Amino acid sequence: MKTADQLLVKQINKMIVLNTIYKKRPVSRAEIAKITGLNKSTVSALVDELLVEELVLETGIGESQGGRKPVNLSINQEVGHIIGIDLGVNYILSVMTNFAGEIIWEKRIDCQAAYSSSPAQRIAELELLIREAMQQAPPTVRGIIGIGIGVPGIVNYEQGLILSAPNLGWENIGLRSIIEQQFGVPVFIDNEANAGAIGEKWFGAGKRADDLLYVSAGTGVGAGIIINNELYRGAKGLAGEIGHMTVSLDGFPCSCGNTGCWEEYSSEKALFRYLKKYRDIRTLTIFDVVKEALAGDAVAREAFQYVGKYLGIGVANLINAFNPQLVIIGNSLPLVGDFLMDELKQEAAKRCFAARYFSIPILSSQLNMHACAMGAAALVISRLYASPVS
Ligand SMILES: [Zn+2]
Repeated sequence: MKTADQLLVKQINKMIVLNTIYKKRPVSRAEIAKITGLNKSTVSALVDELLVEELVLETGIGESQGGRKPVNLSINQEVGHIIGIDLGVNYILSVMTNFAGEIIWEKRIDCQAAYSSSPAQRIAELELLIREAMQQAPPTVRGIIGIGIGVPGIVNYEQGLILSAPNLGWENIGLRSIIEQQFGVPVFIDNEANAGAIGEKWFGAGKRADDLLYVSAGTGVGAGIIINNELYRGAKGLAGEIGHMTVSLDGFPCSCGNTGCWEEYSSEKALFRYLKKYRDIRTLTIFDVVKEALAGDAVAREAFQYVGKYLGIGVANLINAFNPQLVIIGNSLPLVGDFLMDELKQEAAKRCFAARYFSIPILSSQLNMHACAMGAAALVISRLYASPVS
């Protein structure tokens, strides 16, 4: 009989082996032992279990390093599928990925502005989209493994509870239990910027960074903070609400109840407020303004530069606070490219104390508008890698 500690050690070792196969695939048992420092017989026993569970596959014969040719291992991408959702303020994006995080289906729907639809209506739209994704899933051993959802608000991650999503007008919504009851698979809910950070770390611009900040600049502004390869949630899970740090003493009122919040100057809200002085914005979407700027429209470019400057101010503050290896700017605003990013980088360089001593790359997101949905899928995948015994 094994003690609880021995079982825990075994589980951790198994996670390490699975993770190594995921990152280094194709890889042999001997190589895994070398990379992880685990002894060869431990690796072999754990790989045997993973093979029985169909989480990994033998994928052929590798090069001999002297002696017998090794058998290569890879993860079984088709063991099941994961649904990742980006629940936006005026859209819902759903992706379905395989176990390796490759998108095999996706759909984006536009929704009515949050103030003109109730939470129940929005949840009904979400359920419809999840049902459609499930219908598209090819048959696999495990079917749908789980659903991850990124939401624009403050989340109690452990309880799957949305505490407050001011831009959606939601308070205290137990979204995890609603979706789990409906679909009978594990559901993980996280803040959209946290999901974006995890998405970039697993699949995008942050793969090689141990410490990174992901700044989501869209309808609102938030940050996902990764420290030493782990998402930093803070004492109660509310870390990263930097859109609501005060940057102006007597500034614009914010949906959170405060005034002068950073996101009032550095989000789509600020962009449209700027444009409103020059044109009718009622039917304009952020994608229209991106197109206008790229086509040479001077006012649209100025609007992005204005917002970029303010983004740079906040990014400089964040770099001073966290000293990250890398800052990634995601969500809708960086879609316009250099008009925003150049201004942002210049302002950050000017104001950042830490950047005087070493350069800190500020990149735009590699996953673009998929970062949150892919990160939501990674919430499910990472949980599976953390406890592959089910
Ligand atoms: Zn605020």
